[in-house]
Amino acid sequence: MPGFTVSFHPEDRFFAFLRTVGEISCREGRLSGIPVAVKDNISTAGIETTCASRILEGYIPPYDATVVERLKNEGAAIAGKTNMDEFGMGTTTENSAFGPTRNPVDPSRVPGGSSGGSAAAIAAGLVPLALGTDTGGSIRCPAAFCGIVGLKPTYGRVSRYGLIAYANSLEQIGPMAANVTDANLLMGVIAGHDPRDSTSLDFPYLHTPDPEIRGMRIGVPEEFFGEGVDPRVASVVWEGISLLERKGAEIVTCRMPSMAYALAAYYVTCTSEASSNLARFDGVRYGPPADTKKTWHESFQERRRDGFGEEVRRRIMLGTFTLSSGYYGKYYAKAQAARNQVRADFERLFREVDVLAGPTMPTVAFKFGEKSDPLSMYLSDILTVPANLAGVPAISVPCGRVEGLPVGLQIMGRWMEDERVVDVGYAFEQGVSR
Ligand code: GLN
Repeated sequence: MPGFTVSFHPEDRFFAFLRTVGEISCREGRLSGIPVAVKDNISTAGIETTCASRILEGYIPPYDATVVERLKNEGAAIAGKTNMDEFGMGTTTENSAFGPTRNPVDPSRVPGGSSGGSAAAIAAGLVPLALGTDTGGSIRCPAAFCGIVGLKPTYGRVSRYGLIAYANSLEQIGPMAANVTDANLLMGVIAGHDPRDSTSLDFPYLHTPDPEIRGMRIGVPEEFFGEGVDPRVASVVWEGISLLERKGAEIVTCRMPSMAYALAAYYVTCTSEASSNLARFDGVRYGPPADTKKTWHESFQERRRDGFGEEVRRRIMLGTFTLSSGYYGKYYAKAQAARNQVRADFERLFREVDVLAGPTMPTVAFKFGEKSDPLSMYLSDILTVPANLAGVPAISVPCGRVEGLPVGLQIMGRWMEDERVVDVGYAFEQGVSR
């Protein structure tokens, strides 16, 4: 049980933490005494867990997520719970019900999302390690915007037990850190089989990063530098890729035609899953007690209207529509067919190359309010969603700057080759710091 928790106010410096925890662990382990920040959609026993949503305000989980249990077993101290887009739905952390997090590199800009609090906490030097979750880029996007490292593991490599679901077929918990070595350490602690998650794979992660990439084949799909990618970002990332070439890797340009459908497949899938996963928030089992004078139907409507923010309500409605009879075949089934094409493209490419590289995000961090319509916000996820659709590992590492703002280099790998994407990230980091 925590000693005490302190809640934060949106006016606090970067508002990375929703609440911090005063608890010192004495256990011996790989993370003895190291403070780790935990995204607020990951259950922490005795510590409020809200997903940055009003509907979960005051909810105190009775148990720890497996990843939190693993942190504690290795002696880590849970530093606090970090701000995020409500239920993970967003790319900027502007969708938190409690106020946005600011980017420590430039506080007039967003930190990225949805794990923006975790990324800002690291970039501001508040903690060395943090957990994020990535459904369609939520670890890699804020890592890129804040100039840190973020790894989305292979689907199934890290237990989702205790993660409050948004779109369960896409999401993974993963490490965020200031450098690849630290991210690798945290990955080693959280990964591994968990009988409480039926999608969990039985592969431990025991890895020391190896910067030797001579002879490795790195594919660069043309589509990763397509429409919408800021040419300044593209040129910084190409410089990064040529650094890998100088270290002995072979660069192979290639095509990934399914990129044309990836974003649509992602948004139909994630909203469909969200509409089903979020049905449990009915105002009875969570949140303030319902008004007993009202019918169940009235109080259900009221709680969900007032408890969910605009973006969450939009996605529940979209997902309910795409799953409804008569439209299911037109939307959900089609999205799954497109998802299979994305998978098939990866399989084909990974027969020829060892990893794929490109920018993590098409642009640098936006100014607050810059992306005001949902569609233009969704479009910025184009480079991160393919890895989630296929379940393959992907890392974002800092790769230079554009007008002082960080750019991320993304490396995607074969299914279960998380170690290899970490190695390429490490080789890159070593090359940059020389
Ligand atoms: N921006 C994407 C979305 O809003 C990804 C979010 C995430 O990975 N949780 O769905």
